[in-house]
Formats: sequence, structure tokens, C-alpha cells
Amino acid sequence: MKDSQKTKLIRENKAQQQEGLCGYCKSPLEPYLTHLDHIIPKSHGGDNSEDNLISVCVMCNMKKGPSTIEEWIGRVHRDFMRAKREMEYNEIVLDSLREMLDKRKHCDIGDYDG
Ligand SMILES: [Zn+2]
Repeated sequence: MKDSQKTKLIRENKAQQQEGLCGYCKSPLEPYLTHLDHIIPKSHGGDNSEDNLISVCVMCNMKKGPSTIEEWIGRVHRDFMRAKREMEYNEIVLDSLREMLDKRKHCDIGDYDG
């Protein structure tokens, strides 16, 4: 069996074992957009054994890249905290801007009354 056929078979078996869901983000796997990832990257001593392989979506494969799970967790956590801070900032600015706009509308009406 050719390597590409073997890879395809492993990818399909893994996807089936994972109930058709990405091993990382749990989103449904699209047959043509499913990648096989080395949980422990080859660059970190990971091998091609089935225990070290997982079917994943394109997004997760791109985001994880050649990092270990530990390295990826660190990045995802930093991204999450950054997004959370930005969301909190946006909430405060939104409230403040709405309040400003509201006050200005009231002032305009007030001017006409005078
Ligand atoms: Zn995924």
C-alpha cells in the first residue's frame, strides 16, 4: 500500500473514532478539509504511530502548526486573554459613547427649548 493511501486510511479511521469531529476543537470534520496531525510533533520526537496521530480540521492544524500541546495552550490562553481585555475595553467605550451621544441629543433639544 502506498504511503498516501495508508495516510488516507489512518485519517479516515481516526475521524471515525472521533465520531467525525475535530480532535481539538470538536467541530464537524469535512472529508476534504481533514488533516492528520502529529500530537507530539516530529520536531519534538513524535513518531508516525497511530497513537500520536489525530484527525483535525484545517483551522486547528494551521493554528497548532509544529508546536506541542503545551505551547499551543499557552498561545490560545494568551489570545483568549487579549480578546477578553479587548471585549471589556469595547464594552466600556460603547457604554461611554452611547452615554455621550445620549447627552448630546438631550442638549440639542434643550437648545431649541431656549
Ligand atoms: Zn479543529
